[in-house]
Amino acid sequence: MSETPEVPDVDSLLQRNQQLSQEIRRRVDQLSALNTVAAAVSQSLDLQVTLQTALRAILKVIPVDSAGISLVDEAAGELVLRAQHGWRHDFVTQPMRIPLGKGMSGYVVANDEVLVTGDLSGDPRLAVPEFADEGVQAMALVPMHARGRVVGILSVMNHQPYQFSDDEISVLRVIADQVGVALDNARLYESIKEQSSRLEAILNSTGDAIIATDNHGRINLVNATAEHLFGLRRAELVGLPLRQAPLHPKLRAGLRRAMSEEGGANTVFEVTLDDGRFLSAIVSPVYSYQEPESDRQAEGWVMVVQDVTHLRQAEQTRVNFIRDAAHDLRNPLGVTMNALTMLKEEFGQQEGCAEIVDIGLQGVRRMQALIDSLLNLEHIESGVGLQCKPVDARDLIERCVADIRPAIQQRKQTLVCEVPESLPSIQGDMNWLYRALTNLLSNANKYTQEGGVITVRAYVRDDDLFIEVGDNGPGIPAEDLPRLFERFYRVPDLDHEIRGSGLGLAIVKSVVEQHGGRVFVQSRLGQGSVFGMAFPLSNAQQGQPSAQTV
Ligand code: ADP
Repeated sequence: MSETPEVPDVDSLLQRNQQLSQEIRRRVDQLSALNTVAAAVSQSLDLQVTLQTALRAILKVIPVDSAGISLVDEAAGELVLRAQHGWRHDFVTQPMRIPLGKGMSGYVVANDEVLVTGDLSGDPRLAVPEFADEGVQAMALVPMHARGRVVGILSVMNHQPYQFSDDEISVLRVIADQVGVALDNARLYESIKEQSSRLEAILNSTGDAIIATDNHGRINLVNATAEHLFGLRRAELVGLPLRQAPLHPKLRAGLRRAMSEEGGANTVFEVTLDDGRFLSAIVSPVYSYQEPESDRQAEGWVMVVQDVTHLRQAEQTRVNFIRDAAHDLRNPLGVTMNALTMLKEEFGQQEGCAEIVDIGLQGVRRMQALIDSLLNLEHIESGVGLQCKPVDARDLIERCVADIRPAIQQRKQTLVCEVPESLPSIQGDMNWLYRALTNLLSNANKYTQEGGVITVRAYVRDDDLFIEVGDNGPGIPAEDLPRLFERFYRVPDLDHEIRGSGLGLAIVKSVVEQHGGRVFVQSRLGQGSVFGMAFPLSNAQQGQPSAQTV
């Protein structure tokens, strides 16, 4: 005989249904609270907003009277109350501080455990006497985490005894950790904001004009000195591509050229403005140091521009003085030379005499060479006697290369020529141009180690003919680059066994400028340098590049 299944009565079905829908509503409320906190965490970097949103969301889904959030202040060794909701007393304006390790909260931080108590009355673990006044009877303290550490405590309290369910504790744990992440983000944000305002203060108090761009050449930073030097407001520059920036055309062209250079080296150049001011610019790529050096791509460019008019004026005074001294020294040196030569002829047979006179003659010759270089410089700068004719650039390079070749071979170096078959002519003085290019080649030969590689390149770009001499020698520190073309300047830390007067590059600069061109240098310490000359072309034809090793 089969049993008739028990039919539930309608009342109990309704009751069960009601319980289920209440349960579902509770779950939905909990989920929505979690969502509210998650949204606040991801949308706001304002810590107070996030903390208050979290407290309100908690009190909506857990039927207790009050909630608070305390954060660990490691430097002070305290737990500090930062937000509260529902307490009678204000514990936030003058924040309540509990020494780390004390009371219930100390236990929660030290053990990274949730602490729940359904009846607090008279509990000796209560560290803060003021809480006795609150008449709290039930409490749950939940640790908040960020980056694997306890960074604070979320506390919920009730004036009546209350049993927290496992579900409620789970919701509190999730919200506590979301707030922990928000807290971490807010701290990072604050510290980045602080660093960025400190950096801005430094940038604005430097005497150099600084402009930075992103890797597409769009200006993203202009400091106060740049505004002053260019007579422009930041808002007129920031956001513009450099090619459209209302800077002096010569400066803008120089900056753009430097940024288009391959290899990410520092580039230095000078421009003279129409009002007579001299500007010196150094353009450097910006790298993220998080990437290994081999994978680094420039994330942008930074340009430091200095008004060096006063330096140029001082240099001019020095140049005038040296020129006068060189003139005055020339005659007495000639007399000394003649006297020593006569002495050698007269007494050269006597023992030891010829050697001593030779030492004197050598010194006088060196001094004469120095004076000749100085007077050459004066000569070039005056422009007097400059014999300008069309100079075939390939012919010029071939002559210089042929003459430097023995010295290159002696140091077992390789000379690579990347020179097109045909190059346009330069309107200029072959002798002076020969001297300038030879100086660059001879420096590359002198300063590059034995077995090194020296490259001569020539090409046409933007109506300029470029002749460059590159090497894989020691390179030059960025701080020395702006001064290299000054007379007598020698890089302090370079091997000074290598003889030199510090006049070679000054001669190159003068020659090139007399031809309406400009010089530039790019260098990376430990990797090598490129010294270049750019000559403006008027009726030139562009040659086809080809590479060859000489
Ligand atoms: P110097 O007579 O000293 O060679 P220059 O005017 O030709 O004078 O060069 C100035 C300084 O620039 C040199 O003393 C050297 O420190 C540096 N220099 C020039 N060319 C190079 C190069 N190719 N590599 C490294 N340093 C260089």
